[in-house]
Amino acid sequence: MPKLYDGWDLRKVDLPPATKLYRLEPVGVGTPLVESLSGHFKRLSSIHCLTPTHLFRETVGPLLAKRYLHTESPGAAIDCASLSRSFSVRSAAINSTGLMAAEWIRTLEQLIVVPNLRHLTLRPWSHVISQRHLIRSHLAWCPCCYHERRLKQEIVYEPLLWFIQSVTICPIHKCRLRTKCSKCKRALHALSRCSEPGYCSECGAWLGENTHLQQPAVGQTADELAWQSFTIETIGKLLAAGDDQSTLPSSTNSLGEALSSLMKSTGKGLGHLAKLIGKPKTTVWGWRNNTSRILLADLLRLCFCLRISPIDFFQMEGNSNRQHRQFLKTQPSAIQRHGRSQRKPIEKAKLQRQLRAIVERKKPPRSLAATAERLGVDKRVLYRHFPELSRLIASRGAAVRGISKQ
Ligand SMILES: [Zn+2]
Ligand SMILES: [Zn+2]
Repeated sequence: MPKLYDGWDLRKVDLPPATKLYRLEPVGVGTPLVESLSGHFKRLSSIHCLTPTHLFRETVGPLLAKRYLHTESPGAAIDCASLSRSFSVRSAAINSTGLMAAEWIRTLEQLIVVPNLRHLTLRPWSHVISQRHLIRSHLAWCPCCYHERRLKQEIVYEPLLWFIQSVTICPIHKCRLRTKCSKCKRALHALSRCSEPGYCSECGAWLGENTHLQQPAVGQTADELAWQSFTIETIGKLLAAGDDQSTLPSSTNSLGEALSSLMKSTGKGLGHLAKLIGKPKTTVWGWRNNTSRILLADLLRLCFCLRISPIDFFQMEGNSNRQHRQFLKTQPSAIQRHGRSQRKPIEKAKLQRQLRAIVERKKPPRSLAATAERLGVDKRVLYRHFPELSRLIASRGAAVRGISKQ
């Protein structure tokens, strides 16, 4: 009796589109510890046995709108051949809400055909949250997380949560996040020529350590831990929501609409809200009229007072809630001690010396904003206290940018 075999199925197989790079799935999607886009790019380099520099040169660099790859030198060529130092300094911005994040998302989605890389950045919140004081300029990490992940043979990666300035403590181990390599004492950029998650990009040292068992929550007061636990939980919910359109503010008017609803339901005015979270009334007016975006730290303070998450805050349209009225009467004590931003006193004489030195340099800075960032102050502070020097730096920066674009 001859054995009969099944016939061949000659229908066309529905093959997924070919991709230039391996399709590397991000870690932790839909959880508070979702991976960051810069960390994902490093892992992507690593699985291709390339450094971030090589992967960038071969794939991402040529596809990007390259405006921000200009070096600061007047008339300098675009540094597409490598991750230049001037780019590395700003590379954490690819995890933020701005244009740079949008360009990297578009390019990487195109290269590895993984949809919705937006949720590896804060881009989903770009309609309402300001870029200012949002993302750290350098890496922060929990040495215990690295240690445990390697011990358990899990993927070593860089969560987006570690990049957020308001987060200073690891949500798992409650230890303070590190910002400098314990071996070479250097701060590390989000992306640099040879970087890999878990290793120092300057000296190559392993950044993991089993320290939390000996020193739990060292140097942290109960208040700081309480504020951090609220901050981490709230931001965690925001990151876990990812790109879920039903929970995201849908337009640049969402902030104003949410505030209007809040004022209507509580019967409180702008002045009350401003006083509650320690901001000038004009700032809250800007949010209400959608002329400015809110700092993440201010949104946290507001949500702390209302005992709700940012997601619920932006969905409270027309919701008359007595609880909110009750909560808005008093400011919680923890916010008074830790939630409020600690304004540093301005050292005017020192700043003036630094600005004069910058003006006298042969190589002018790229912009006043870049100068302000380097000096650790707001651009508006420079304009307020040193209007002439600020205008001079701004106009020279504009001239330099004009030259380099030509
Ligand atoms: Zn940890
Ligand atoms: Zn190092």
